[in-house]
Amino acid sequence: MPAFDDPFALQDTQLLRHRPFVNGQWVAGDGLTLAVNNPATGMPLGEADTLSPASINTAIDAAQAALPGWKAMTARERSVRMERWHDLILEHADDLARIMTLEQGKPLAEARGEILYGASFAKWFAEEGRRAYGDIIPPPQRNRRLLAMREPIGVCAAITPWNFPNAMIVRKTAPALAAGCPVILKPAESTPFSALALAELAQRAGIPPGVFNVVLGNPPDVGKAFAAHPAVRKLSFTGSTRTGRILLAQAAEQIQKVTLELGGNAPFIVFEDADFDAAVDGAIAAKFRNAGQVCVAVNRILVHENLFSRFTERFTARVAALKVGNGLDPDTDIGPLINAAAIERITALLAEAKAGGAKIHTGGQAHKLGGLYFEPTVVTQIKPQSRLWREEIFGPVVAILPFRDEAEALRLANDTEYGLASYFYSRDLGRLFRVSEGLQFGMVGVNTPVISGDCAPFGGIKASGFGREGSSHGIEDYLEYKTVWIGGI
Ligand code: ADP
Repeated sequence: MPAFDDPFALQDTQLLRHRPFVNGQWVAGDGLTLAVNNPATGMPLGEADTLSPASINTAIDAAQAALPGWKAMTARERSVRMERWHDLILEHADDLARIMTLEQGKPLAEARGEILYGASFAKWFAEEGRRAYGDIIPPPQRNRRLLAMREPIGVCAAITPWNFPNAMIVRKTAPALAAGCPVILKPAESTPFSALALAELAQRAGIPPGVFNVVLGNPPDVGKAFAAHPAVRKLSFTGSTRTGRILLAQAAEQIQKVTLELGGNAPFIVFEDADFDAAVDGAIAAKFRNAGQVCVAVNRILVHENLFSRFTERFTARVAALKVGNGLDPDTDIGPLINAAAIERITALLAEAKAGGAKIHTGGQAHKLGGLYFEPTVVTQIKPQSRLWREEIFGPVVAILPFRDEAEALRLANDTEYGLASYFYSRDLGRLFRVSEGLQFGMVGVNTPVISGDCAPFGGIKASGFGREGSSHGIEDYLEYKTVWIGGI
């Protein structure tokens, strides 16, 4: 037992697990122990066991052994279990949210929102799996028939980040499960407890042993083990572009299919004809959720020159009023950042911007609460070459630049290696189409900061990766076509 009071205080204490989940068992670790801390307090939350590369291989073998049984089930049999998983996630939403806030730091209401959002993918793909139709194709000869059957691709590996410790897991594993594929998941090291709780609920939902596995281990070792094992036919990754490049290169070894959801550098454009109040609200929402630690978070704000001063003033006042604190406090808008490296990175980006002549309107430094708290920050007069404008910030900091016309706004917005999310506010119908078509990003939010849902394709282009999660297309990556030619009819 830990030597400190149980900070989790869960209604269902069985949700808190400290061991990898392999082949339906909570297995003892044979790797280094993982220490998990609460970013809000710096206090230890607990430890989790990790696996050696040899044990990761054994886990993949177990997933491979589970493939025939899971694949042989009818889509309905799989979907019933996934619906149960969805219902259990909702039933335990309060406990799951608490685990998440404690290990990740986001405000409890946001954590709860994420649980509901994550669960929606379990339901969506439970339904979608039942509609994974193949084709009967008109044959080119009279005595032939032609079928394209859909089959599960095989064992699917998933590597997920700490910023959405629940939703990224369900969004990746649900389409795989629905398609008939066993999954082997490696969650982020800062947030293993959210992942292990999902495994506990998957087990309760009747998902058979070996079909849903959660492993922990040294990340490069796990990545290599996934890449080297011939049974792994698919890897889905959400995380940094840097790690995505490594994983994509490694996937070449066994010619694994890959989905990558990587970094972003989202522009938020406010045109002169925008609904001003809605644009201010939208910028706050799309920037500061999860303290800005979101791949689709607004990274750069572009405001028409005639609105620039008014927008900056109003936006700054709103940012200055955001309450920074522990995510368990119901008044908190902005929780702590994930680790000290995040604070150092943002501090360095701001130092470079300031040296280049940037003006800080509010914030600009570590918060007086200390620890991993950072002041929500607004910057202007920044150079478009500066790191703060070009790199993914992943924190509660944003810069605003003015633009003259639509062409300049688009040029500035598209001038990035990334292509994940983008946003703009305008009430002009023609512009709505022109700018939506002109933005080189996988997703565009027009007059809305919310650009994700179970029913919509989510993903990026360029250095933000490829492949789409969610929607009817989200299951495609987990299915292969098998073409069957029948002669002699
Ligand atoms: P961040 O820098 O935001 O943590 P990462 O891309 O490093 O983003 O992490 C996202 C996920 O990728 C985490 O689960 C992490 O453990 C994992 N990861 C990091 N490096 C590797 C690697 N070389 N191989 C496999 N997984 C990795």
